[in-house]
Amino acid sequence: MSDEIMRTALKQLEQALYNHENWAEALYGTLICRLTPDQRDISADAHRNCRFGQWYYTSGKAAFDRHPGVAEIGMEHEHMHQYATRLLRSSVEGLPILIEDYELFVTALKRLRLEVATVQRELEDALYNLDPLTGTPSRLGMLTRLREQHELVRREVHACTIAMIDLDHFKLVNDQYGHAVGDQVLIRLAHYVMSHLRPYDKIFRYGGEEFLICMPDTDLRSGRDIIDRLREELAALPHDVNGKGAIHVTVSIGLTLLDPGTPVEQSMDRADRALYAAKAAGRNRIVTWDASMNASPANPGPPA
Ligand code: GH3
Ligand code: MG
Ligand code: MG
Repeated sequence: MSDEIMRTALKQLEQALYNHENWAEALYGTLICRLTPDQRDISADAHRNCRFGQWYYTSGKAAFDRHPGVAEIGMEHEHMHQYATRLLRSSVEGLPILIEDYELFVTALKRLRLEVATVQRELEDALYNLDPLTGTPSRLGMLTRLREQHELVRREVHACTIAMIDLDHFKLVNDQYGHAVGDQVLIRLAHYVMSHLRPYDKIFRYGGEEFLICMPDTDLRSGRDIIDRLREELAALPHDVNGKGAIHVTVSIGLTLLDPGTPVEQSMDRADRALYAAKAAGRNRIVTWDASMNASPANPGPPA
């Protein structure tokens, strides 16, 4: 989902939520003052008729369908309306409103609010922590993610491999074909990686043309296999140059395990040293960190 589409969808979500709060207030008024309810609220598909439901079943559900909380929102919303309908029917029929029914309604309403707020928070998080050019997560959430994985490694839950990736001779691409072509290459490579990683792997834009990939539940051997396959595929990916043919851009990669007894920053430094060695060995290759690399100076940090 592009930033613009996500922003629009988030605004609509906010509006739908506001409408729903108004609906809930009107419901309390109807019940307390024993007014005649809106027929739509006592129909079997009341959840489709309220303004939140209209939004959800037309554009909302589709806009956020990749988010796992969206189906839950639909279910909570439907339950809440079933309980609301029960309260309204009791009121219309002049029957007492049972406290149990009221509590079911209030609990469902609270759960709906929690589900919506969670989706909202996660989408805003994704929106504001994404690198605007490539759409990959920016460095902002990277350390948090690595520290979470480090904790699992320390508890021997699983191994985690990290890969530092840097485009080869990228300055030449910019110099020969222009910055706009360079941008397109960067975007295409990043998208390719994002769509070919496993769902629980994560890529971060570490610096200008440098990315870090975090692969949970992955030892060095399988990490190397995955990343080497990716390296080959990236090298074979044609990049259009202003409609005048195609170029290929390779990447170099430094690989290391998150070490249980080493701070994550130091593991990142190790991946960086391995990357430096991959460049020195001729580029378009993977090098795995080993202790002998600590004797040489590290690659100067990422571009600003
Ligand atoms: P090496 O193989 O040693 O990595 O060579 P390189 O040319 O890739 O390395 P260098 O660090 O000299 O140059 C990196 C280039 O990446 C320079 C910079 O202009 C370019 N770059 C960084 N971020 C972006 C970006 O967002 N868009 C474009 N088009 N270029 C970028
Ligand atoms: Mg480079
Ligand atoms: Mg670089």
